[in-house]
Amino acid sequence: MKYERSSALFKNAQKYIPGGVNSPVRAFKSVGGTPIFIKSAKGAYLTDEDGNSYIDYINSWGPMILGHNPSEVLEAVTEQLKNGFSFGTPTELETEIAKIITESVPYIDQVRMVNSGTEACMSAIRLARGYTSRNKIIKFEGCYHGHSDSFLIKAGSGLATFGSPSSPGVTPGTTQDTLLAKYNDLESVKILFEQNPEEIAAIILEPVAGNMGCIPPEKNFLEGLRDLCNKHDSLLIFDEVMTGFRLKMGGAQEYFSVKADLITYGKVIGGGMPVGAFAGSHKIMKFLSPEGPVYQAGTLSGNPIAMRAGYTTLSILKDNPSIFHNINNTTRKLSTELSIIFKDFGVPVCVKQCGSMMSLFFTAEDIHNFDDVTRANHEYFNKYFHFMLENGIYLPPSGYETWFISSCILGNEINKTLELTRKFLSKI
Ligand SMILES: *Cc1c(COP(=O)(O)O)cnc(C)c1O
Repeated sequence: MKYERSSALFKNAQKYIPGGVNSPVRAFKSVGGTPIFIKSAKGAYLTDEDGNSYIDYINSWGPMILGHNPSEVLEAVTEQLKNGFSFGTPTELETEIAKIITESVPYIDQVRMVNSGTEACMSAIRLARGYTSRNKIIKFEGCYHGHSDSFLIKAGSGLATFGSPSSPGVTPGTTQDTLLAKYNDLESVKILFEQNPEEIAAIILEPVAGNMGCIPPEKNFLEGLRDLCNKHDSLLIFDEVMTGFRLKMGGAQEYFSVKADLITYGKVIGGGMPVGAFAGSHKIMKFLSPEGPVYQAGTLSGNPIAMRAGYTTLSILKDNPSIFHNINNTTRKLSTELSIIFKDFGVPVCVKQCGSMMSLFFTAEDIHNFDDVTRANHEYFNKYFHFMLENGIYLPPSGYETWFISSCILGNEINKTLELTRKFLSKI
């Protein structure tokens, strides 16, 4: 494949944009090489500026669950654009999307829309602190909750790729209120509760970790966290920016039958537009301004174009529950077959999958947490990544990332992926 235009565009971008990208993982730092500039996308495929096409296993890092540019969403957004871009007033659409969200998800009464997953998590934590009158939060090593200060401590893929546990610019004052636990390790959480009695406002976690590669919660982990929160009057926050409207309509709460007190959203909820949200029972949400004292606001929150894209995407998912069934099955098939192929060729691999999220870790060990992921063979992943890319398959450009399957990825795409993997293995 030729990447002449992408190379030239990246060179120019680096002049005007720090590192040439507006979000670090796009820079290919982990896998090496030049990032590919995409011009358009449709269904399962991306087309780059040089005219190359790729099967897309990133799907904009999750939002494009229906594949790229689905015609129903395109039509709805085009229609909406004619009415204007932004009003800064309430609109009927905001109630419609709030209604479909609260009706689809168990245990939530109300939802506040924001513009990104980062904002959603940042605001949910403030609300949890305001509601409990406590300061500290527990997060897990390798979980990512956006780039706000409290969360930038051992925050998974982005930081792991750059080899920094945490970011300069985050003050010690902020980090002292963030306690770190080990994913899938209840004991590490119990100890923190014992060391900080009546100080912990909330536990926040990805109910299926996706930002250190995909790591599903092990048996009784989520249930155990629920019990600990009940025991210590702390809130349980599911960061469902990845899993919300992806595992199932009701997200991780429905998938695992565990109740959370607050849920954060992003990605799928905006159908490809910049949208986030957080939700909970009225008992908690009423602490939010203007009803309550915890301040939170946004000039473009609930933007009509974004709401129309999100609403249309959620409506399609709601009306077609078979989509979840199908993408989950496709992902199970892909992950199982890949696991068999690598093992046939004697390559140790640990394949993790949950719903339509999956990751390959090149290691003979089982993967439970962030430390395990760091011990996998990331150089091998990088070789695999580049071989697949050269041959028209766009995997996430880091062994710390999750693959997202869309409803447009079907038998043909899966077969091509398996076939190329065999070719990679017979060549290497
Ligand atoms: C992507 C992500 C975020 C941050 O969302 P942005 O829209 O990138 O700010 C937060 N939490 C999780 C679990 C995510 O995957």
